[in-house]
This record gives sequence, C-alpha cells and structure tokens, in this order.
Amino acid sequence: MKKKSKKIVIGNMKMHGSLAFNEDHFKNLLQKLNTFNNLEITLCVPYPYLFQAQKILTGSNINWGCQNVAKEPEGPYTGEVSASMIKDFQSKLIIVGHSERNTAYCESDENIAEKFNMIKKHNMTPLLCVGENLNEREAGIMEKVVAEQIKTILDMYGSDIFKGSIVAYEPIWAIGSDSAASPNQIEKMCDFIKQLININSTDNDEVNIVYGGSVNAKNAVQLCEINGVDGVLMGRSSLNTNEFYEICNGISKI
Ligand code: PEP
Repeated sequence: MKKKSKKIVIGNMKMHGSLAFNEDHFKNLLQKLNTFNNLEITLCVPYPYLFQAQKILTGSNINWGCQNVAKEPEGPYTGEVSASMIKDFQSKLIIVGHSERNTAYCESDENIAEKFNMIKKHNMTPLLCVGENLNEREAGIMEKVVAEQIKTILDMYGSDIFKGSIVAYEPIWAIGSDSAASPNQIEKMCDFIKQLININSTDNDEVNIVYGGSVNAKNAVQLCEINGVDGVLMGRSSLNTNEFYEICNGISKI
C-alpha cells in the first residue's frame, strides 16, 4: 500500500475551555507543534472560541474548526450556527455525527447527511464520525451499523461527496474509556469503510480514515501504524498541551 505523505491529528475539545485556558493552550500548542510540518493538525473548538483560535493560530501549521453545524444555510433556527458563519472564521473542518450528539440530541442519519453536504458546499472538510455501541459490537453487527451510517450519505448524495473528506471510526465503547479498540478491530473496520465508500480518487481528493476513542501518547503511534489508518481523532488528549505534543511527536516519526 502507498504511504500517505501526511498523517492526520485532530483534537475535539468538546465543551471544554475558556478564554483564559485557551489563551495558554493555543499559544503553547503553537509553540510546541510548529516543527511538525509532516502532520495535518486540526483543533475543533467550541463555537464561541473560533475567533480566538483564528487570532492565535493564523499562520501556523495548526488548523481549526468546530464540532457541529446547522443543516440549513440560514433562517429562523434559534441556537443554530451555519456553515457560512463557521467559514467566516477561516475554519477548515467540521465534525458531524459525533456519537455524543447523536445520543443526546437524537440526530438522524438524514440530518447528518445534510450537514455533511452543507460543509462540502462551503469548501470545508467534513469529519464524519461512525461507530457501534458495545451491544452492537457484542452482537457482531458493527459493520451493519457503520454501513447504515455511511449509506444514508451515499444514497442522498452519491459516493463522490466523500472526496476529500475524513471518516473517523469511533467505536462508542472506546470513547472516554481507558482502552482503545484493538488493532485487529480497527484494521477490519477501516478496510470495510474504504470498500463501502469506494471512490475513484487521486491523492488530493481521497477519503481519509482516522481512528478515535481513548487515543493517548502511549498508543497513538501504534494506532497510526495500523493498515488503513490515516491518523487519529482525540478528545481528552486534545486538552493537555504535553499529551497533544507527545502524540504529534510520536506520529511525526512514523
Ligand atoms: C471523542 O469523543 O471523539 C474521543 C475520541 O474522546 P476520547 O479521546 O476522550 O476517548
């Protein structure tokens, strides 16, 4: 298999941070990560901190983005934030379909597909999260579950919409826990996802697959070395500057 030029490292801050915390964290990341030009690094911040991320990270090798988007372009949708508003802050990437949103806010696969499409329309990168819960894994239906999550997008918009996007395989049981999925489980699912999407792509518009779920400085290199894994998505580790640095440092040497 051809080796990709850049591994992907994405941090999801979730609903953490403050102006004071971010000021330190973003500036420290800026300083510590500035030599990792062989990585594609992105930090997904809460909406109110997009301006702060833009102000501090502009000109650096760290991109920024956020964790959700409205499926509508604009209008009377109280509390929603549109793709064009997020793009106004030079964001590069938006997470869609994170299991924490699906569980807490009952996001349907159709909603997620429309959001995915909206992000593409605004020339940003959608990071689609897919993955099964523990019951589904134990019942052996994890591939069926992931296929359903992806198929809605394929059915609504066709496979080419995946060009240049990122899919995160995040088994729900591994998120926020103390152990990641096994290399075998991850490799099988990444392979399954690639076959399912099956686009005719070039280096610039291929679909990248990252793994998420309890990524830390101890396991990040091993996870990135798994066949078919193009990088990592991390939650907790993205809030700790040293952990973030160690993860990037390890992966940059692969
Ligand atoms: C996540 O929720 O996207 C995630 C990967 O969380 P954690 O790294 O904390 O398991």
